[in-house]
Amino acid sequence: MDAITEKRISGLHPSVRVEMTNIIKEIDKALTGRAKVRISEGLRTFAEQDALYNKKPKVTNAKGGQSIHNYGFAVDIVLIIDGKTASWDTKSDWDGDKVSDWDECVKIFAKYGWNWGGNWATFKDMPHFDKIGFSNWRILQAKKRDKDNYIII
Ligand SMILES: [Zn+2]
Repeated sequence: MDAITEKRISGLHPSVRVEMTNIIKEIDKALTGRAKVRISEGLRTFAEQDALYNKKPKVTNAKGGQSIHNYGFAVDIVLIIDGKTASWDTKSDWDGDKVSDWDECVKIFAKYGWNWGGNWATFKDMPHFDKIGFSNWRILQAKKRDKDNYIII
C-alpha cells in the first residue's frame, strides 16, 4: 500500500485501523493489473467538514459532526492507474479478471462489514465506505471522547 493510504489509516478510529490495513492488503492482492487502491480521505475534522459544507457550489449536505468521516469510521477510495493517474471509473477491469476493479474493492469491503455509498438510495457516493454499526452520526455525536478526540465505544 502507498504511504498516503498508510497515513490515512493511522488517522482512522483506533478500533478499525488493523481491519482497514487488512482490507487494503486484501485489495492489493486482488488487483493484479494497472490499478492500485488508495484511500483518498479518511478522518475529517469537524472544522474541515464545516469548510467543505460552506463550499460553493455545494458538495455536501453534512456540517461538522454530521459525517461519519468526522469520527474516523469512513473512508473514500480512488484507483491509481499505472502509479500516477487517479480514476473513479467503477466499470473498468484493469486486471482482466472479468470483474471491474471497483467491484472487487466493494466486495472486499463488504466482506469485512463496511457499507458502500454506491448502495445509497438517494445520493450515491461511489468512493465512500463506512463501518456497519457506526453509520449514524447522531449516535456517534452523543458519545464521549477520549484525549485524542476519538469517540469512546
Ligand atoms: Zn466518504
